[in-house]
Amino acid sequence: MMSKTHIAVGVASALAIAQTGSAESCVAAMIGGSIGGIIADCDITPSRAHKDALIGRIVVIAVSVVSLAIDYWYGAGVCDYLVGSLGVWLIVGIVLFAALTFVGGHTDHRSFTHSLVGMAAFCGSFYLICEPLLPYFVIGYASHLVLDITNKQGIQLFWPFKANASLGLCRAKGFANTVVLVLGIAVAALLLAYRLAPLFGVSIGVF
Ligand SMILES: [Zn+2]
Repeated sequence: MMSKTHIAVGVASALAIAQTGSAESCVAAMIGGSIGGIIADCDITPSRAHKDALIGRIVVIAVSVVSLAIDYWYGAGVCDYLVGSLGVWLIVGIVLFAALTFVGGHTDHRSFTHSLVGMAAFCGSFYLICEPLLPYFVIGYASHLVLDITNKQGIQLFWPFKANASLGLCRAKGFANTVVLVLGIAVAALLLAYRLAPLFGVSIGVF
């Protein structure tokens, strides 16, 4: 799947487990789900041939910045947590996360970063950076691996073993990608509206 699809599905998955009526939870889901949904593809170097990788990075930065701005403006709590947790472990987490991204960028596409080992390493470093966002990051990351397993190219889920995990259902680009992208955006928008509705005094008695 393409970057925007991974981000949309990552955010939708994270919003599915977010708390209803909690702005903090929704902001955390937007940031954690979008970063978790795309970070595995740090093994693609943005270039002319891989414009999609660049678009993905821009989208995820935009989503995170806008979400943090909303959080800061409404005092939802994520910014306060980051400021309050400034310290050695936060720095260790950022350095570890950056190192893993660097290492991932020098490995084969769909190998280390698309494995359970890679996922555990990224989640561990993310835990040190911002613990409240971890569940959303984990589900976003998991959604990326699940989507890529449906791809004909598959992924090395059990890296360092080379065995390829693939359901062989679709290709990264094409009709299936468009359908999943549209569904991901629609589900994310509906879930966001549903989760935030109580804050505006609106009651939606669907679930
Ligand atoms: Zn991928």
